[in-house]
Amino acid sequence: MEEKIKIGIIICDRYRTCAGGKCLRSLRERVGAFSIYKGKEVELVGYTTCGGCPGGNIEYAPEEMKKNGATVVHFATGMIVGYPPCPYVGYFKKFIEEKYKMEVVIGTHPIPQKYYNIHMKLGTWEMPEWREMIKPTLTDEKTRLSYD
Ligand code: SF4
Repeated sequence: MEEKIKIGIIICDRYRTCAGGKCLRSLRERVGAFSIYKGKEVELVGYTTCGGCPGGNIEYAPEEMKKNGATVVHFATGMIVGYPPCPYVGYFKKFIEEKYKMEVVIGTHPIPQKYYNIHMKLGTWEMPEWREMIKPTLTDEKTRLSYD
């Protein structure tokens, strides 16, 4: 039997009171960035915030997740849809991959349509690197609307 994949989620601290509803729902539904786990068993073994700008908890939280068996860290979609999106997200990903040798996936649940609409007007994701970063959670309009 295939081994269970253990993951951790790090959210943007501005959403620190979030109960994780959309992340957990999308994990269950295997949509957005979690579509890579279709047909696979996944266990969430850690959930925390970045600690607030400039993300002090990024330095330590992955270690605890790794001790709990996590091999993948997901940055919650809030990091790329907030106003403004986290300016450090690319750096955080490189840091965790380098220091902890864990895979980092940018995103969790599908981008909600209301955020999509505003960011399209603002031109937030026009740069090629941003287009790459939103790919796992862009999905289609119907899915985005269901996560509004
Ligand atoms: S913008 Fe980035 S560093 Fe600031 S609180 Fe959000 S995730 Fe953390």
